[in-house]
Amino acid sequence: MNKSIYLDYAAATPVDEEVLAAMQPYFSEQFYNPSALSLASKRVKSVLERARADVAGVLGCRPAEVVFTAGATEANNLAIQGVGRRWPDSEILVSAIEHDSVRAPAGLFAAREIPVNPKGVVELEKLAKMINDKTVSVSVMYVSNELGSIQPLSEIAQLVEAERQRRRRSGNKRPLYLHSDAAQAGNFLSLNVARLGVDMMSLNGGKIYGPKQSGALYVKAGVRLKPLILGGGQEMNLRSGTENVPSIIGFAAALTKAQSLREEQQRRISRLRDEFIKQVTQRLPQAEINGKAKAMAPHIVNLQIPGTDNERLMMQLDEAGVICAVGSACSASSEEASHVLSAIGLGEAQARSSLRFSFGRPTTETDIVKTVKVLSSGI
Ligand code: PLP
Repeated sequence: MNKSIYLDYAAATPVDEEVLAAMQPYFSEQFYNPSALSLASKRVKSVLERARADVAGVLGCRPAEVVFTAGATEANNLAIQGVGRRWPDSEILVSAIEHDSVRAPAGLFAAREIPVNPKGVVELEKLAKMINDKTVSVSVMYVSNELGSIQPLSEIAQLVEAERQRRRRSGNKRPLYLHSDAAQAGNFLSLNVARLGVDMMSLNGGKIYGPKQSGALYVKAGVRLKPLILGGGQEMNLRSGTENVPSIIGFAAALTKAQSLREEQQRRISRLRDEFIKQVTQRLPQAEINGKAKAMAPHIVNLQIPGTDNERLMMQLDEAGVICAVGSACSASSEEASHVLSAIGLGEAQARSSLRFSFGRPTTETDIVKTVKVLSSGI
């Protein structure tokens, strides 16, 4: 049987061989608990802290500002619930295209949605009007996992900073934090937290050729959160439990490698993406790209083919050897059409005829040509 063409890298990436090799010793020979007092444990602890310093180097922050988590879902929950529980009687603003791991915890508190425009980009003027005296955090993802649109984080950070200054003058003691879910950004974009202007940022190893359920939350010094998991006080008291050392080592190695490759990958995958769009729209003139923002991460194409049923088409493609996705993998079991496509103004029928194709390091031009062939012959 021919190997399938995998075009769902926004859902999961294979673990890089070097990353796997870096993790290997920490499952068996170097299994020690980093919090114990033996010399062997201290050696493991120092490797763990080196991994934290490596991640901090990528983010341009201090190591103590990096909290390792089991993936972006947990990081998002810590950022949203950690603030919501620390500052009750406040309001949280989240963009209308956030992943459910932001939307669901935000729903536990007073929260409102920041609208996006039809291109899938947060509307800054509307956001500026929504921030009020009670707002404690604003959560806007870096890259949309369904559309690929890049959000204007630095501009949002400026709005947030202006509001902080206003509060200082008016004596409002409530903090205002900017959080961003950067789960889809690590392979292609700079993660420098100072330049982005974020106070918290969620990262995920499983999308950057590292292990699943690995990741981190950047928490700027001075941001006060209530932990979700209480116990032995690991991870600066924000995430108790014996550290998952192999996973943390793998995450740090994956992040460092992804960032060293990002410019080259940005160029290469952009070319493949452009070629895919060109060929698809030539062969299927009725097809449309959903959410064409000016700034796009290169790896995601959300394709609408009017008159098709996305679930049926996805399964036909799968049988023909092409793996793609219906919306986000994490909500694939949901009966509802994508909230993201609805937020950019698509109706139910348009959303139900949309598929997501996402590209990764192993994707080749031949994969693109074959996929377009299968796609256009099946419709
Ligand atoms: N945030 C975004 C933008 C994502 O794309 C994903 C995964 O698809 C997540 C969060 C959740 O990541 P995980 O399930 O690995 O925790």
